[in-house]
Amino acid sequence: MAEFTMELNDEQKEVRDWLHGFAADVIRPAAAEWDEREETPWPVIQEAAKVGIYSLDFYAQQYFDPTGLGIPMAMEELFWGDAGIALSIVGTGLAAVGVLANGTEEQIGTWIPQMYGDVNDVKVAAFCSSEPDAGSDVASMRTRAVYDEAKDEWVINGTKTWATNGGIANVHVVVAVVDPELGSKGHASFIVPPNTPGLSQGQKFKKHGIRASHTAEVILDNVRVPGSCLLGGKEKLDERLARARERAKSGGERVKNAAMATFEASRPAVGAMAVGTARAAYEVALDYAKTREQFGRPIIDNQGVAFQLADMRTQIDAARLLVWRASWMAINGKPFTAAEGSMSKLFASETAKKVTAQAIQILGGNGYTREYPVERMHRDAAIYTIFEGTSEIQRLVIARTLSGMQIR
Ligand SMILES: Cc1cc2nc3c(=O)[nH]c(=O)nc-3n(C[C@H](O)[C@H](O)[C@H](O)COP(=O)(O)OP(=O)(O)OC[C@H]3O[C@@H](n4cnc5c(N)ncnc54)[C@H](O)[C@@H]3O)c2cc1C
Repeated sequence: MAEFTMELNDEQKEVRDWLHGFAADVIRPAAAEWDEREETPWPVIQEAAKVGIYSLDFYAQQYFDPTGLGIPMAMEELFWGDAGIALSIVGTGLAAVGVLANGTEEQIGTWIPQMYGDVNDVKVAAFCSSEPDAGSDVASMRTRAVYDEAKDEWVINGTKTWATNGGIANVHVVVAVVDPELGSKGHASFIVPPNTPGLSQGQKFKKHGIRASHTAEVILDNVRVPGSCLLGGKEKLDERLARARERAKSGGERVKNAAMATFEASRPAVGAMAVGTARAAYEVALDYAKTREQFGRPIIDNQGVAFQLADMRTQIDAARLLVWRASWMAINGKPFTAAEGSMSKLFASETAKKVTAQAIQILGGNGYTREYPVERMHRDAAIYTIFEGTSEIQRLVIARTLSGMQIR
C-alpha cells in the first residue's frame, strides 16, 4: 500500500506540468468560443489525442497510479483550463471506467479502443444511467433489458437522459433493469456497439454551463445487442442475481440505492474537477485584485478584498486535501467508513460554486461580463453540486454512513 503523501513525485510533477501546458495553451484559449458555440470541441479533442492526453493509455496510467493522485491531479489541471472542454476530453474515460471496472478482458480489449477511435478519427463514449424519473433515485430506473435466449441477445427498451456524449458517442454504456424485483441490485450494464439500430439521440439540452460538453437524451427502442455485450458476462450476472434474491428472501441486507453507493469511488474525481475550476477563478481574481486600482491603491490593499482571497485559497486547499485523501483511500482499498468519497465531492463542489461567485464580485462589473472568464467558470461550477450525486445526496450518504440509520 502506498503511503499517503501530499507531495507529487517527480514523474507526477512532470505529467502535471505537461497537462498544465496543454490546458493553458490549447484549452483555455478555446474556452470562450466553444462555450458560445455550445458544441463538442472536436478539434481540441483531436489535439488532445495527438499529444496522448485523449487515450486509454493515459487515463489508465493515472487511474492505476498507486498513490491515487494521478486522476485528481489530471482532472484539476484539465478543468483548470476549461470545464466544458475538459469534460468533452474526459467524458469518454468515465464511460471507459465502467467497462474497466465490470467488463471481462475481452470486453475491455474490444470496446475501449472503439470508444476513443484513433488520432485521425477520434470518437467519444457515453455512460447512460439517469432517466427522466430516475435521477437521484436510481432504483426507480425503468429501462428494461430482456434476454432472448434463442438468439443469445438482449433487447433493451427505455429512455435515458442527461447523457454526456449521448447520441454522438460511438459506444454507449447503458444501465438497465434485468430483474425489477431487486431494485438497484437488479441492474446490469450493457455495451451498445456503434450504429446499433434502435438507439437514437433525443433532445439535446441547452445548458447554463459546461456548454462545450454535449448532453442529451438517448432513446432505446428495441435495441438488440449480442449476449457478449452484457458487461461481466451472463454467468456472473446470474450468480449476482441469485445472491441478491437469497438476501432479499431472508430479509437481510436492505436493497440500497445505487446512486448512493456505486459512484462513491468515482466521486473524488468530480471533486478534483471542481478544485480545478475554483483554482482557475481564484487565480484570475488574485491577479485582478493586485492590478485594479480604486481610491488610489490596488483593491487587494483592502482587507475586505484580501480576506475574501484568503478564504478562497484556504477552501480550495482544504478541498484538494479531502479529494487526495479519498483518492488515496480508494486506490488502496481502504473502506470509506465516513463516506470520505462523498465528503470530498460535497466540499469541493460547494467550494467551486462559492469561490467562482466571489471571483465575480472581486472583478466587479468586469466579472459580470463575458470579456472575463469568471462568469463562465461560475456557470460551469454549478454542475459539480448536481452530477455524480447532488450535494443533498452526498449529505445523505455521509449522514447514513456516520449514523448507520436510514435518514431521509
Ligand atoms: C450536464 C449534466 C451531465 C450529466 N451527465 C450524466 C451522464 O453522463 N450519465 C448519467 O447517467 N447521468 C448524467 N447526469 C445526470 C445527473 O447525474 C443527475 O442530474 C443527478 O443525479 C440528479 O438527478 P435529477 O437531475 O433527476 O435531480 P432529482 O433527483 O430530481 O433532484 C432534484 C432535487 O431534489 C433533491 N433531492 C432528491 N432526492 C432527495 C433526497 N432523498 N433528499 C434530499 N434531497 C433530495 C436533489 O438534491 C435536487 O436538489 C448529468 C446531468 C447533467 C446536468
